[in-house]
Formats: sequence, structure tokens, C-alpha cells
Amino acid sequence: MSDVMTAPRAKVEEKLFQNRYLVDAGRPHIKVKAHTTPSASLLAMTTLCPAGCYTQTESGQVEVAADGCLECGTCRIVTRKTGEIEWNYPRGGFGVLYKFG
Ligand code: SF4
Repeated sequence: MSDVMTAPRAKVEEKLFQNRYLVDAGRPHIKVKAHTTPSASLLAMTTLCPAGCYTQTESGQVEVAADGCLECGTCRIVTRKTGEIEWNYPRGGFGVLYKFG
């Protein structure tokens, strides 16, 4: 058996925990536009976002808490046609700080 097969595996959650995130208080870099019913694309973000930033409220709207965002751009692409979110990179010095290794 090769070394790759026998090497211990780290879970994705454990890897993500290594990262740090600097919050830009009061200036979220992603916003969900006001809506009553989310599109299927926006609703899908509650399961697609790898950082778990999207949640659905009890009344059915979708919210985003950009703290912890990995800046992967998935939500930007998935909702591109519906235009339900505003997406920008965080200001310099804020946002995710990746830790490799
Ligand atoms: S950019 Fe990626 S990590 Fe950040 S909120 Fe969108 S899907 Fe989640």
C-alpha cells in the first residue's frame, strides 16, 4: 500500500479551523438584497457555501453572515443570473487569512 493510502487524513473542517478571519465590523463584503422569497439559486447557498455563511430564517428569507467567508466566489457565481447578492472582496487587511500546512 502506498504512503498516500496510509497517511492520516485531516477533515476539511479541521483544515478550515486553521484559518483566521479578520472582521471588518459594520462593513460586510457580501450582502443579500431584500427579498420575500429566495430563488432556488440563493436558497441553494445554504448548503453550498463551504463556510456555512448562508442561513434561512424562519420566515423563509436567506441571510448571509460573511464572517468566515473563504472568498471562494461560489455564491457570486451561483446567484449571478438572479442578482440577489452584492459581492465584493473585503477591504485590504480584512477577511480570511489562510494558514497553509
Ligand atoms: S464566497 Fe464562498 S465562502 Fe464566501 S460566502 Fe460565498 S460561497 Fe461562502
